[in-house]
Amino acid sequence: MIEDKNQQRTSLSELGEFGLIDHLTKHFEIKQSSTVKGIGDDAAVLDFKNKNIVVTTDFLVEGVHFDLSYMPLKHLGYKAVMVNLSDVYAMNAKATQVTVSIAVSNRFPVEALEELYAGIETAAKIYNIDVIGGDTTSSTSGLLISVTALGELEEGKAVYRSGAKPNDLLVVTGDLGGAYMGLQVLEREKEVYKVNPNNQPDLEPYTYIVERQLKPEARKDVVKLLEDLDVRPTAMIDISDGLSSEILHLCKHSNVGCDLYENKIPLDPQVISVCEEFNIDSTTVALNGGEDYELLFTISQDDFPKIKANPNFTVIGHMTEKEKGAHLVTRAETKIALKAQGWKNFNG
Ligand code: ADP
Ligand code: MG
Repeated sequence: MIEDKNQQRTSLSELGEFGLIDHLTKHFEIKQSSTVKGIGDDAAVLDFKNKNIVVTTDFLVEGVHFDLSYMPLKHLGYKAVMVNLSDVYAMNAKATQVTVSIAVSNRFPVEALEELYAGIETAAKIYNIDVIGGDTTSSTSGLLISVTALGELEEGKAVYRSGAKPNDLLVVTGDLGGAYMGLQVLEREKEVYKVNPNNQPDLEPYTYIVERQLKPEARKDVVKLLEDLDVRPTAMIDISDGLSSEILHLCKHSNVGCDLYENKIPLDPQVISVCEEFNIDSTTVALNGGEDYELLFTISQDDFPKIKANPNFTVIGHMTEKEKGAHLVTRAETKIALKAQGWKNFNG
């Protein structure tokens, strides 16, 4: 952490565990009608009436999933919520509540956790979800955050990884590779900073991709949009690990193959130019980069007219019989088998 010496530092021991929880969570408001009891008792109480409930959880570990030398704690709190909401939306559900558990070492002052919780609170406000509990404990070294998200949907409306059929179209939201290239830029600046701490990085040319890395947004809007367009995906998954491995998940669970067209993969111009700067193949980045938190889904060809004019969606391929396997069809029209970690195979 790049610490300001003048910053106020209140040690965690001054507040104690209960004081700390109180202090961090006192601003949280309850917005969902399904939340009967939130923070403050031994457990939260929820009432989902006749709805189905989805539950998903994710761990973020300092040094493994994030680096506090360039990840501001406020962003980390926001991102910890986003990665979970993304999984809820990938089920075609509406996100409603989260719990947040943290393990912190005493190298973090209260002010650092206030930042973390400010990010969590912002995410909860924007995405209209309730923070209904969690756990707080100490850690001997780093910071660990585990968020569990809950969501609701009408019975029978869940979209699984397993419903894709041969000839279904493969559709992706937004654009890919930005979060990974943002990370490359941040890692590079960190190295520069280590050598010369007076060197202030100019991140201006990289605003979009750095934001994709530090402040990802879960595609709540897409779930609503699909409903408005009356499109029910046959299968869906969120892109947390990279397009290639997510496609392979869909293929495996749905027992189908896939042809993905390299020239259809949506890339932001900034991703293309930064890939050139780093001398990395942009297709490789989109296939293996990860952390974009876009949605990847399949639809029946009959639904194509409903999505074709929408700038949020790009058709990038179609599903095939399982026996045909999962392939990338390159710009040169050669077919390459998709691999979960296909890194170097696509160059040249
Ligand atoms: P218990 O001893 O029963 O685990 P705690 O004292 O840990 O209870 O928690 C008291 C209340 O504060 C509970 O409602 C719990 O869910 C909530 N809580 C604890 N830690 C956190 C946290 N890090 N974020 C949000 N809520 C929390
Ligand atoms: Mg507890």
